[in-house]
Amino acid sequence: MFEKILIANRGEIALRILRACREMGIKTVVVHSEADREAKYVKLADESVCIGPAPSAQSYLNIPAIISAAEVTDAQAIHPGYGFLSENADFAERVEQSGFVFIGPRPDSIRLMGDKVSAKDAMKAAKVPCVPGSDGALPDDPVEIARIAKSVGYPIIIKAAGGGGGRGMRVVHTEAALINAVNMTKAEAEAAFGNATVYMEKFLENPRHIEIQVMCDEYGNAVYLGERDCSMQRRHQKIIEEAPAPGISDKQRKKIGEACADACRQIGYRGAGTFEFLFENGEFYFIEMNTRVQVEHPVTEQITGVDIVQEQIRVAAGEKLRFTQKDIVLRGHAIECRVNAEDPFTFMPSPGRITTYHPPGGPGIRMDTHIYQGYTVPPNYDSMVAKIIAYGHTREQAIARMRIGLSEMVIEGIRTNIPLHYELLHDAAFLRGGTCIHYLEQRLEKLKKA
Ligand code: ADP
Repeated sequence: MFEKILIANRGEIALRILRACREMGIKTVVVHSEADREAKYVKLADESVCIGPAPSAQSYLNIPAIISAAEVTDAQAIHPGYGFLSENADFAERVEQSGFVFIGPRPDSIRLMGDKVSAKDAMKAAKVPCVPGSDGALPDDPVEIARIAKSVGYPIIIKAAGGGGGRGMRVVHTEAALINAVNMTKAEAEAAFGNATVYMEKFLENPRHIEIQVMCDEYGNAVYLGERDCSMQRRHQKIIEEAPAPGISDKQRKKIGEACADACRQIGYRGAGTFEFLFENGEFYFIEMNTRVQVEHPVTEQITGVDIVQEQIRVAAGEKLRFTQKDIVLRGHAIECRVNAEDPFTFMPSPGRITTYHPPGGPGIRMDTHIYQGYTVPPNYDSMVAKIIAYGHTREQAIARMRIGLSEMVIEGIRTNIPLHYELLHDAAFLRGGTCIHYLEQRLEKLKKA
């Protein structure tokens, strides 16, 4: 096992990784920007290295600075967390070439899944169900594009192969709008991702977002840890996640889970990963794979008892998975609310100093957060400041506990979206379960008009 790990991230996930390391008796190095000097996890780490000024481009995305920090502190492995460099194949390669272990998949797996056209090709070959669409990248010939669109059937969506973060997509309803939309998406993709390749998918009108968590080792063992429903989204950003997904049968879970685990074995995948699907009319359609730990991993941990971050570390150190598929039993229900420093209804960011802080507690409540009273939320990064995770024997109990947690939680000095979460935890459609990915935006629209 490693003696020392460098954590190349910030915020709650830096603290989450730090806690996993401490539990395993591994020393930690945290790298941080000038804006995060006072962060709690920086103080808790065995060592810390300031790698640059506040803007991420000069600190958390600064590859040479991170590698130098690992060199001067004698760390053996680097955990990238999520976001920042976590899905950057060049970074993973540089880490390994410099003699450190990258806690994540092999660089070629990251590269394969990072391009959505090659990812879909690989998944089709592995018999994972995909959204119907163009076979690979769209050709240049407008006549040919129109023919493909007609065979897929309108509405369709044009997507950038290099896209991410919900950008580089355009929905098209008629042939008249098609070519212009393709050209605009190409130009945007070239500007934003340096890759003008686009592809086409059938646009699903009312899908849910359901994803499968997998965990694999270097020896061809691949296990799925059930699914999460992340349909409560605004601008493609998830705000509430839960596991299991309401209404998914054991048979459906097993079928899609096995398809994902098989795909991992076929591509030689290592570490934690997530297969994201749209789910409509009882069918799963693959959209992309995330080759890293996800924000919402705790809900899976709560119902499986597997510590995903510790398992990532063990697998990276060359250990075998300590469980097989039959050891994975889903127990109870877990829900996560992402607490963002923003106005609950206008969504204006609200960084600043937290003057009062009372976290919730009690049975079934887990708080993953780096904040404390007196902490200043910097304006430079993602607005998520905490994750409240509620566990119950049933979905009803998890909801009841989350309501209590939200009602107990006090954050003053900044605004947060807790009032929005509180409303959603009383929303009739959420209580029924199984809302589609457009539900939250439609509900917010109605609120605005009312
Ligand atoms: P990104 O990497 O930018 O998150 P995804 O491929 O995961 O891109 O898609 C992001 C979101 O866009 C999905 O969660 C869904 O809301 C919407 N979307 C993508 N593809 C389709 C599709 N074929 N039909 C309907 N909605 C889609």
